[in-house]
Amino acid sequence: MSKVRVRFAPSPTGFLHVGGARTALYNWLFARHHGGTFVLRIEDTDLARSTEESVRGILDGMRFLGLDWDEGPEVGGEYGPYFQTERLELYHKYVQQLMEAGRAYECFCTPEELEAQRQAQREQKLDIHYDGRCRHLTEEQKGAYRAEGRKPVVRFVSEKEGQTEIPDLIRGSVVFQNSQIDDFVIVKSDGVPTYNYAVVIDDALMEITHVVRGEDHIPNTPKQIQLYKALGFPIPEFAHIPMILGSDKTRLSKRHGATSVMQFHDEGYLADAMVNYLALLGWGYDDSQTLFSRDELIEKFSLERVSKNPAVFDFQKLQWMNGVYIRELTLDEFYDHAFPHLQKAGLVPAEPSEEEQQLIKTVLKELQSRVKLISEVVEMSRYFFTDDFPYNEEAVRKVLGKGDAKGVLEYLRAALASVSSFSHEELEPVFNGAMEEFDLKLGKVIQPLRVAVTGTNVSPGIYEVLEIVGQQRTLARIDRALDWIAQGE
Ligand code: GLU
Repeated sequence: MSKVRVRFAPSPTGFLHVGGARTALYNWLFARHHGGTFVLRIEDTDLARSTEESVRGILDGMRFLGLDWDEGPEVGGEYGPYFQTERLELYHKYVQQLMEAGRAYECFCTPEELEAQRQAQREQKLDIHYDGRCRHLTEEQKGAYRAEGRKPVVRFVSEKEGQTEIPDLIRGSVVFQNSQIDDFVIVKSDGVPTYNYAVVIDDALMEITHVVRGEDHIPNTPKQIQLYKALGFPIPEFAHIPMILGSDKTRLSKRHGATSVMQFHDEGYLADAMVNYLALLGWGYDDSQTLFSRDELIEKFSLERVSKNPAVFDFQKLQWMNGVYIRELTLDEFYDHAFPHLQKAGLVPAEPSEEEQQLIKTVLKELQSRVKLISEVVEMSRYFFTDDFPYNEEAVRKVLGKGDAKGVLEYLRAALASVSSFSHEELEPVFNGAMEEFDLKLGKVIQPLRVAVTGTNVSPGIYEVLEIVGQQRTLARIDRALDWIAQGE
């Protein structure tokens, strides 16, 4: 195989979404596996919809996922420029070549004329096609149209006989009848090339060896292959990767939840978990393996193992996987990920002192095994950092509303006020005493205390919680719970 060169070619008309990210990832993995080159090219010829903000968003998404590009925006490269709007002259040059070879022509038809053509075809029950009427205009006729102020588009003279075959590395051979391929537009009347044309010029001049992209581009591919042939460019290999569906088996969209990669970032997904999960949307190594490190993906990835069938995006599986990756972080790494969330929620200072950092780490150590999303640390830790935390109503009613809660809490309040520290050794006899006094199991003694101190009935171990919250705040919170009980009486 000649040296692999692949590209990700997003149109900057929105954020980097899950589908785009998976396409970028497969290209990246393929390039890294073969020691090839991964090119990022911005297809910004849709002038009305392309924005700089979107370009930034796409680059941010790629950086978050750790998909570094060898050529493209910011890094440059020998095959630039990497923005299509900076390549207009190149497109123009090859249009001239096609026209001179009789493979392209100017078409002056107005939208109304084209519609009338289609209407007539519909009435005669013919295939809807551009009928090629401008193919043989004389210079005089063109001059007359220009004088009317008409601006032409340029159409490609497509091959109408025979078939065009796409040798697809994932789907095998896909065949199109050439009779279905119109003389399609390659340059719009404003002089800007269309996608199908620009993509061929770019992939050819950038010496792309493999075009790996979503299967929604299959219908475009025969047109592109015809252009390669007409221009005498070598045809790259094609690999069309399957669609991504939501749980209801319709195409994944915002309706199903987050689809922007940066939104996943903001919600507390880790890049390694995202990469691992995205890789599995259409690719697998063997059925038994779900967790792959980045290095392992690079080593094992191949287009041969990409499925033809659509992949279903399973948010729960991604969350589970994220939890697995979170548990693998060192405490310092977990701190680095969690800190911005705590800070944004106003629970910790922007620049915590050494001592404050220690406290945050002590809290995070208790939460690391419990969260699936980094952002969950906020609600799970609020009561450690502030006394102003909400009561989970259901838990409070269920636990503090019970008859024995008051007596247990009063007992514990008195006993906890008299210990000299909140160490395990000092707390254990307190709980034992309460169990004996009320003839209750440990869980029943601890539950009202847990609700009083944390506002909810799910938390890290009670010993750890009490040690971090400390004696004074624990007693105050028991008082608050007793007040709540008294109000209900
Ligand atoms: N700009 C096109 C898109 O975003 C690229 C398609 C391709 O990879 O050829 O869909």
